[in-house]
Amino acid sequence: MRSAEPPLKQCLYTVINSFMKATLLCCGLALLACHLLAQSPTTAPAAHTSQSGLDLSAIDQTAGPCVDFYQYACGNWLKENPIPPDRATWGRFDELEERNLRQLRQIAEDSAAHQDRSAIDQKIGAFYASCMDEAGIEKRGLDPLRPGLERIAKIRSKPELTAGIAWLHQHGAEPFFAFHASPDPTKSTLYLMDLDQGGLGLPDRDYYLKTDEKSEEIRQKYLAHVARMFELTGVPEADAQHKAAAVLKLETALAELSLDNVSRRNPQRLFHKYKLDDTAKLTSSVELRTFFTLVGAPAFSELNVDVPAFFEGFDALIAATPLGELKDYLAWSYISANAELLTKAIVDENFNFYDKTLTGITQLPPRWKRCVEATDAQLGDALGQKFVEKTFGEEGKQRTLELVGQIERAMAADIDSLPWMSDETKRQALIKLKAVTNKVGYPNKWRDYSSVTVVNGDYFGNYGRAEDFEFKRQLAKIGKPVDRVEWDMTPPTVNAYYDPQQNNINFPAGILQPPFYSNQADWAVNEGGIGSVIGHELTHGFDDEGRQFDATGNLRDWWREKDAEAFQKREECFVNEYEAFSPVPGVHLNGELTLGENTADNGGLRLAYMALMNSLAMASRPSTKLDGYTTEQRFFLGFGQVWCQNSREEELRMAAQTDTHSPPRFRVNGTVSNMPQFSQAFGCKQGDPMFAEPPKACRVW
Ligand SMILES: [Zn+2]
Repeated sequence: MRSAEPPLKQCLYTVINSFMKATLLCCGLALLACHLLAQSPTTAPAAHTSQSGLDLSAIDQTAGPCVDFYQYACGNWLKENPIPPDRATWGRFDELEERNLRQLRQIAEDSAAHQDRSAIDQKIGAFYASCMDEAGIEKRGLDPLRPGLERIAKIRSKPELTAGIAWLHQHGAEPFFAFHASPDPTKSTLYLMDLDQGGLGLPDRDYYLKTDEKSEEIRQKYLAHVARMFELTGVPEADAQHKAAAVLKLETALAELSLDNVSRRNPQRLFHKYKLDDTAKLTSSVELRTFFTLVGAPAFSELNVDVPAFFEGFDALIAATPLGELKDYLAWSYISANAELLTKAIVDENFNFYDKTLTGITQLPPRWKRCVEATDAQLGDALGQKFVEKTFGEEGKQRTLELVGQIERAMAADIDSLPWMSDETKRQALIKLKAVTNKVGYPNKWRDYSSVTVVNGDYFGNYGRAEDFEFKRQLAKIGKPVDRVEWDMTPPTVNAYYDPQQNNINFPAGILQPPFYSNQADWAVNEGGIGSVIGHELTHGFDDEGRQFDATGNLRDWWREKDAEAFQKREECFVNEYEAFSPVPGVHLNGELTLGENTADNGGLRLAYMALMNSLAMASRPSTKLDGYTTEQRFFLGFGQVWCQNSREEELRMAAQTDTHSPPRFRVNGTVSNMPQFSQAFGCKQGDPMFAEPPKACRVW
């Protein structure tokens, strides 16, 4: 509950963090998702023993590439790489993250042992050491939680709720709703206050509303979890069960007021500018004007309200709920938000529900991993700075920019050649493409944490002060110009993203590594890996969501109506294709929810293929065989092998409901089966499952 999901950022991959539940809701949100990788641009990892850089041992020669390409590219890898007990998935992304965690552990431990060496060492070292101090945390018990619980107990009447909710938002919890500084949808150079639905303890609104057996079962387990958490804070059992029931009832009411996640993918549905004074018409139960003053927001007169109907329902909800139950809900949100900072019994119970039940992880990750991730989450630029100093050079940045340039040129040629788009819309699309800015590696300017007091032996306090620093930093942006050089992911993150409101693509140092990219790998394998990632992010500017923003990041329709219709018709093809995929028996993918990512996967691979063909033509290089594969085959294998991943059934179920990305198997098979170039490369025939049959094969870009 600690962080709001930024509704518009589109990233490559959804991070399943093993213990920080907020990350279950979003993709790679930098402040919480710390996914890092030991990086050494000049050394290829041991898996790359082939000439081409492909992992030949991963290939399942008994599978036919035209029957199930994913199985062919990854089958042996899947067999040889079971999921470790402390993870929900185990794939090539996870491998990099794991390596990286170990590297960051060394940095953190070194800082902890040399806190007097520099200001940065003091911050990182004391933070990490205070997290590792389990005995001290155990000794303090529930003490850190008491001031917050007392603050909630002091609420004597419903009019006092506003101040109580404000206090909680200032202290790491997010009851009832979410808010953050976000670029103004129609004036993307300025930050605007954005007020959004929120306040749920389960990953999505549908978890409260669906009536199937599995959903019922999860709700029962959630109820038991909430009750146990109350008990662990000293509430008698019977009372705890009453409180849990009140929490579930109230959250269900919030879920009913919430907009569903498919509708939320349409930015127009989230765009409602209000005068601050007029928010009183939405709800009088929570005085929003007073609320924003109390949390310390700078003065502002206008804001965006993502889902007005959500707030319009508050008055009836609060009138119908006894004050005691509202306070139970506030207490729950506070306890849950802080669970990972408390005693072992609370950490374990939190893990049992959010990880074991929801994602199938069987074992709590070792303390050091959780502490490295917490340090990255709270002091990411300090840790990231040390990481970059050790690992990432100017050379890697230059090579990546070169690759980005190639993919951008391919996209320009692709747009030019589209049969379904008018010249006028093409001209606009090319203007937008040209305006994309590229951020590679790490920020030019590091965040200064000197005002954050970090002391040994006070993990709860350290975490809270770092959180408070970030909370104030975000609030201070309201009304100020958008800082376009700021990053939303920490440098070692194994991920990438497109920001439609800034029209930029972002590739942290963490992903510029094998199997995505290697100096030693041949060009075809690199294009299939990092090339398709770059193409994926670029395509996001032109998917069903991204296309609604113009070159400057404003929400403005630049499409001719007929072109928009043609676009939508082509998108329907993807919706139907992916809707048919079933990751777990009885569960199907949501074609609308995953539409933007599927569009990006398909566009990305096509652009990378075009870039490969261009570079082959320019170098007058014919297609050559390496490791027994042609250039084209190596390209597709390079793409497929990036996505080798085992996933737990629970995780696949959750992802089908909440994740905008399709599971890896379908990211690969769904995409290649739309490309005639793939069929050609592997000699697939009509009737083969992977055969790309025009006009049945889907294509937008
Ligand atoms: Zn994406």
